[in-house]
Amino acid sequence: MALNGMQIYKLLPKKNCKECGFPTCLAFAMKLAQGNVEAEKCPYMSDEAKAQLAEATAPPMRTVKFGAKDFEYALGGETVLFRHEKTFVNRPRFAVMFSDTMSPEEVDKKINNINAVDYNRINEEMYVEIAAFRCESQDKDAFIGLIKKVMENCPKVVPMIITENAEIAAAAVNECADRGPILYGANGENYEAMVNLAKDKKLLLGVTASGKESLYELVEKIQNTGYRELLLDAGSRNLKNAFDDMVNIRRTALLSGDRTFGYPTVAFVCDMAEDKMMQLACATLFVQKYASIIVLSDIDYSMALPLFAHRQNIFTDPQRPMRIEQGIYKIGDANEESPLLVTVDFALTYFIVSGEVERSKVPSWVLIPDAGGYSVLTAWAAGKFNGKSIANAVKEFEVENKLKTRELIIPGKVAVLKADIEDELPGWKVVVGTEEAATLPNFLKNYRQAVS
Ligand code: SF4
Repeated sequence: MALNGMQIYKLLPKKNCKECGFPTCLAFAMKLAQGNVEAEKCPYMSDEAKAQLAEATAPPMRTVKFGAKDFEYALGGETVLFRHEKTFVNRPRFAVMFSDTMSPEEVDKKINNINAVDYNRINEEMYVEIAAFRCESQDKDAFIGLIKKVMENCPKVVPMIITENAEIAAAAVNECADRGPILYGANGENYEAMVNLAKDKKLLLGVTASGKESLYELVEKIQNTGYRELLLDAGSRNLKNAFDDMVNIRRTALLSGDRTFGYPTVAFVCDMAEDKMMQLACATLFVQKYASIIVLSDIDYSMALPLFAHRQNIFTDPQRPMRIEQGIYKIGDANEESPLLVTVDFALTYFIVSGEVERSKVPSWVLIPDAGGYSVLTAWAAGKFNGKSIANAVKEFEVENKLKTRELIIPGKVAVLKADIEDELPGWKVVVGTEEAATLPNFLKNYRQAVS
């Protein structure tokens, strides 16, 4: 449990020496309790008190990791129940479920589907991060064979080993140890063996029980062994109860500060619905509340596009605009004679504009200056999108070396910038473009005739 200000105060040296930057030890204790300052600021605290405080002031929900090298992921570490309160920090990861009782054709189909879903949206790579393997046959060789096959054919996925048999779990983990697998299946009977295995290999351990109360007791027992790299599952396999569990577990951790439930959770959407669109609906719900791993039966673009976009929207910081990197972007086979457009670095604006330029099939360049990550009119009103910032971008990205023409198309909504830019860029002609991106294709198709 987190300590309050008075409890922290009792651990302090009570010198009131002000060296921490606060007028009294009590003032320092209050700030520590709010998490606004670090205990290290007090040079007189004992090691024992520091250790107690580190535990007490740690976030109520633990951040855990799985995977390896380029495919390592963090889960949990959330501090708020609602995105608008601050931000969510570690996005959920998607898994596709395999079973050792599936036919080879079914396995091949899922492998192909996993590999097919791989694209970039607003600077984020979108793909399935996890392959979950459920051992149903209790045939160790068949299970290992399945894991091996999928690992060989899906280079990006991290395996999630699902079995309550510690012996099979050990063999499976050994097979894919270099990929940083998740081990799922610690229960009331096997938890000691599973914890030892997870500890030995430093794995994220999935803990399962039938109901929140049993899960709570089991997590307490596991915490007593000293292992805290946990992923929780209260066992519900219908939407209503699973949703109820997710919300209760998260509220217990964040509102009551009870760290027994301060771990990320997993939702087996694949067991909640057979229909693909129903699974999509369930998964969408759990992106918001509050699963950290969401296991689907399968994936294709009709599921991935809405689901991954939803996750990206929920797990971006609402206080920071989504920005595209500043620079000059080539669209199509643009050359030194191609039109040059300028727009802002707000990601949504860039992707709308570049999409319409692509639709026009007129090879073009798009210049992105530093516009504060705002939309066109907001950036202009804030003084971030003006003659100076655009001229700076022209110079910084050496546009004059890339293009022979000295023409720049600006958004129609900021036609007022024309004279300002021409003052900053002597020898350049500024052309006022369209007010709406949707009319850019027509504009670009007729551009050369219009300016000649
Ligand atoms: S430095 Fe430590 S002892 Fe001094 S006022 Fe701050 S908390 Fe108290």
